Amino acid sequence: MSDRDRNDPGSANEFMAQACALEAEAAERYAELAELMRAHHNSEVAELFGKLARIEGLHRDQILERMGWASAPDPATFRWQTPEGPETTDFADLHYLMTPWHALGLAEHNERRAAEFFERVAGRADLSADLRAVAAETAVEERGHVRLIQAWQARFPEPGPDWDEDLDPPAAVD
Ligand code: ZN
Repeated sequence: MSDRDRNDPGSANEFMAQACALEAEAAERYAELAELMRAHHNSEVAELFGKLARIEGLHRDQILERMGWASAPDPATFRWQTPEGPETTDFADLHYLMTPWHALGLAEHNERRAAEFFERVAGRADLSADLRAVAAETAVEERGHVRLIQAWQARFPEPGPDWDEDLDPPAAVD
């Protein structure tokens, strides 16, 4: 992989905007996943996602405060993707039958993308030491999230290829 992605920030402001969008997107997705796991009666995983939603939301708020922004910038700079890639990322489709294993896989994939983003920025000699320090610190946190998610995913067996035919349809829940 090139050490400078096409979409990487060119300035401090751009970096903070992208970081803010990334955290805002993560907070939103985790809140959705928490809701989804709750609907599937997996309160343990719902709690984990709820906790991560709060952590990422806190990161978002810290950036907003630091920059004096009223709201997160356009989130289009960092949308979550499925492990299969951006073309298949239709969350409306994925939602209803997703198992904890799939949900955790989705989270792991995007935490890794986040960590890699901050690691690249931390390594950029053209940005200020201050900014690189913020990026490096955030990269460590995101790596921690990757490990946390991986540990959780290891608790669940990988569903078979026909997993989406075997789960309870929503009509059968309660
Ligand atoms: Zn994270």
